[in-house]
Amino acid sequence: MAKEGTPSSLPIIPFPHRAEVFSSWLARLAARYDLRADHLAVHAGYPLRGARELDCYLLNQADRALVDMTGLSHRSIKTMRCARPQARLWVRDHPVWCRQCVREDLLKGDEPWERRVWRTGATVFCEHHRRLLEEVCPRCNKIDKGCLFLSDKGRMQPLCAVKGDKISLWGRAPDDQLPWGLTADRTMLRCVKALSMDLSRSLVGQTLRAQWRGVSRERCLTTIVEELTLMILITINHLPKPQPPLCWMLEQPDWKASFRYTPAMLPVSLAASIIVLASVILSDHQFLEERIFWDPSGCQIACELLTPESYVMWLHPKVRSWGRQIVTAPFGL
Ligand SMILES: [Zn+2]
Ligand SMILES: [Zn+2]
Repeated sequence: MAKEGTPSSLPIIPFPHRAEVFSSWLARLAARYDLRADHLAVHAGYPLRGARELDCYLLNQADRALVDMTGLSHRSIKTMRCARPQARLWVRDHPVWCRQCVREDLLKGDEPWERRVWRTGATVFCEHHRRLLEEVCPRCNKIDKGCLFLSDKGRMQPLCAVKGDKISLWGRAPDDQLPWGLTADRTMLRCVKALSMDLSRSLVGQTLRAQWRGVSRERCLTTIVEELTLMILITINHLPKPQPPLCWMLEQPDWKASFRYTPAMLPVSLAASIIVLASVILSDHQFLEERIFWDPSGCQIACELLTPESYVMWLHPKVRSWGRQIVTAPFGL
């Protein structure tokens, strides 16, 4: 018998996929009862902040209520989180996906579900299909409308939230075009995969697998990539207006001082180019089987060798010496 005020256990529980992010599983659970994930989260005792917000917050009491409601272990509920609260700015506010992964879910008769790695700015390519992640709904051409992961008739369905009908994922995906003439070839993807993996590990407080320039006990990998992001945004003269999530802002004594640009706030193709540049200039080239060329001057031909030096020379003069400090820092763990 449940204690008074404790939500009682639920009869139908979808089992979480191994790589699933918390809010995706919560949305699938809520769909079984024709509820929205946000409402189910409030019912379980989470504060009213939206289910996606919970992907990087552990709230012990509400997590325990969810354990009682679903019979899942506390550990499974915890491991579905994709970052720690202090890394909230690395968590994307809008959903992104790999078309091929979602197609495979549907072919298996499964629902569309969101991977943990898709939620953070650390990941820009699908490591299984080697494609740039997508963020634009193929049906309405809009971003962040909740398309593709919509609850209907007890399950998540690949529907367009704007047009209301089914999204076809069988057409050709848009070409993976990256700024500065960068192309996603095998060498580059190998390098990016190593950086993405270590950034993801760093976001949940795990130790890194590879050595990266400038990383030390005091300076984590995410901080260095945040600095590179800012330098690049200054160089291309594109500094979006800071729009941090409200609950993150409320937790900061001075949010303007704590704010950092991260790849999670940028369109996936720009974020991908930043991660690519970072993965090459911060790595000790152990991942580089061949050399990578790029087109920093916008001449439409990727003809310049991407090296720490060509990167520094490309930077805006204002940030060049800062950039040089980063690319000449010793390797650390
Ligand atoms: Zn995929
Ligand atoms: Zn749509």
